[in-house]
Amino acid sequence: MAIEVKNVTKLYGAQKALNNISFEVNSGEVFGFLGPNGAGKSTMMKIITGYIPPTEGEVLVEGLDLVEHSMEVKKLIGYLPEHNPLYLDMYVKEYLDFVAGIYKLDNRKQKVADMIERTGLGVEQKKRIGELSKGYRQRVGLAQALIHDPKVLILDEPTSGLDPNQIVEIRNLITELGKEKTIMLSTHIMQEVEAICDRIIIINNGEIVANDKTENIHSKEKVEKQVVLVEFNSDPASNDLLAIEFVSNVKKAKDNIWVIEASTDKDIREAIFQFAVAKGLSVLSMQRKEKSLEDVFQELTK
Ligand code: ADP
Ligand code: MG
Repeated sequence: MAIEVKNVTKLYGAQKALNNISFEVNSGEVFGFLGPNGAGKSTMMKIITGYIPPTEGEVLVEGLDLVEHSMEVKKLIGYLPEHNPLYLDMYVKEYLDFVAGIYKLDNRKQKVADMIERTGLGVEQKKRIGELSKGYRQRVGLAQALIHDPKVLILDEPTSGLDPNQIVEIRNLITELGKEKTIMLSTHIMQEVEAICDRIIIINNGEIVANDKTENIHSKEKVEKQVVLVEFNSDPASNDLLAIEFVSNVKKAKDNIWVIEASTDKDIREAIFQFAVAKGLSVLSMQRKEKSLEDVFQELTK
């Protein structure tokens, strides 16, 4: 197990930022930590990286207790903080060499060169960090998180503030890194976790509201609800529609057009068609809408 979080609670004064959170991250997994602003994502990540202590509970990284083995754990983890605090006056190379020095790495020059290559900083490597675009600063942040070759990468909103092209580049880089490392990344963007994560935890108000494989988070919610838009040649009675098996809610959108909600994973279009036949109605069109992860997210965190 790469990360084990056991019953972690964090209080900031009277405010509970995390309420008795437990989860595990398997080795090699790209793990998404999804939640709206203020949910507690950064707080959880600061605890896992040892920057702040939990009020209660414990965290193990690669089986090592964070409190007892804080130095070893720091070596195992690479961390890209949310507001990537870079030294703007330093040159890219100088800064990475400085970070390599903190980790007391051998062969610093080579490692810095490798990181520059790895994160695609080549063209910008002679600049001061303050002269770089946000996308390139983020690459410097990733390079500093990777330089000591950690097993576990903790990335706090790694694509926030980037333009769409930069987002794609950084996501590709993360996907590439995910082949060899355990990655935990936070985001408030649903598409991001869909694009790159194997598993997702959705957190809201300091509590876990979902924890599953990315594909299951989808299908589980589809099971719970599907929506079909139907156009009949004339209006049925709403009570008759509600009598169709699994139909949970119906709404008339316009004359002859109905929004039918059902709680089943079975496609209910066939049942609607048979209903129409039995009532002597014609179905002019029928569209089934599957819920997106975005809908699920909004539903779980509203
Ligand atoms: P997220 O990263 O999901 O946006 P955070 O972990 O930053 O959420 O914050 C969770 C909650 O804790 C928020 O309500 C935030 O205002 C509060 N919080 C975060 N850091 C501090 C702090 N140092 N002191 C007081 N409250 C804090
Ligand atoms: Mg945050």
